Amino acid sequence: MSLNGKSWRDNVRFVTPYVPGEQPDGADIIKLNTNENPYPPAPAVASVLKDFDSGRLRKYPKPLCDGLRKALSDWFSIASENIFVGTGSDDVLALSFLTFFNSKERKPLLFPDVTYSFYDVWAELFGISYEAIPLRDDLSIDENDYIGRENGGIVIANPNAPTSLSMPLSAIERIVSENPSSVVIIDEAYVDFGGETALPLIEKYDNLLITRTFSKSMSLAGSRIGVALGSKELIKYLWDVRNSFNSYTMDSITQEIGVAALSDRDYFDETRKKIIETRERFSKELSALGFVFPESSSNFVFAKHPAIDAAVLFEDLKKEGIYVRHFKGERVKDHLRITIGLDREMERLLDFLKAYVSLNRR
Ligand SMILES: *Cc1c(COP(=O)(O)O)cnc(C)c1O
Repeated sequence: MSLNGKSWRDNVRFVTPYVPGEQPDGADIIKLNTNENPYPPAPAVASVLKDFDSGRLRKYPKPLCDGLRKALSDWFSIASENIFVGTGSDDVLALSFLTFFNSKERKPLLFPDVTYSFYDVWAELFGISYEAIPLRDDLSIDENDYIGRENGGIVIANPNAPTSLSMPLSAIERIVSENPSSVVIIDEAYVDFGGETALPLIEKYDNLLITRTFSKSMSLAGSRIGVALGSKELIKYLWDVRNSFNSYTMDSITQEIGVAALSDRDYFDETRKKIIETRERFSKELSALGFVFPESSSNFVFAKHPAIDAAVLFEDLKKEGIYVRHFKGERVKDHLRITIGLDREMERLLDFLKAYVSLNRR
């Protein structure tokens, strides 16, 4: 029992965590629920794993991931001093929130009400005040909502998730240039599947930070590699916070895997092109079945059907071994987020949906 009715629980930091998508096992499962890439990583990645000398694990990894940053510097044609890496862009984003959204006047961080559902979780965890700004009815972002509004920072996923919609570079530039006293983070997790990168703006604006991930277009969700690109000053502050927390986050094998993935741009272009083509074919057929969805710039579509309950369809698909994502929020509960997989996986999903739509109209 406790003194004065006090408990250690009074000292706990209670949080409501992010809920990651399920990771079911099983050979027959069609997994279209976490936006993973259906193709294996570049062949050079397999060679790294085969040839890695385990004796090297005796030593700590390179804390600043020099080799990987050099490879990224060539890939993006940008100096290494403009590049930060972390264990997945979740790690990079969390650290960026901690570093840059520290408004002394507690001005709110701005982000859309429908977006990556980790943003509000980090804001809560770090005690950052925030304001979720409603999307338009068509699920697009109105850039004007982010102009002339007091804020302690802005984060926008472009293309946005789970809506799949992208904003033009001109709109991003307006947001960055009209908010010179805030850091603006553009989360480009899906930009390789459509949309325009804000990379050319980095030289012009020292308040712009772009985040990227190897999880989607590089087929390396299991390796956990995330990147931030920004002015040298922003990147320095990120390393400072990184080295005040845990310096050696990315292991030596992962650093080499990242370099290997970046050594093969042809493979990267070939696989992302295949995914885009599958998306276009799948979108046509899905829309022929009466599903409604915005035109995707990502490796997923965000679809609803006027005559079908999405929560029920989600469960019925799962019984078939087909996993998609359903979010319970009021504005999104009628939708399913469907990752673009292999052609034959999308065919099986479409076959099921064809029969389902004719049987289950609400
Ligand atoms: C997948 C995703 C991430 C996180 O990616 P990781 O690098 O796997 O941590 C970040 N932002 C958005 C919008 C995503 O969809």
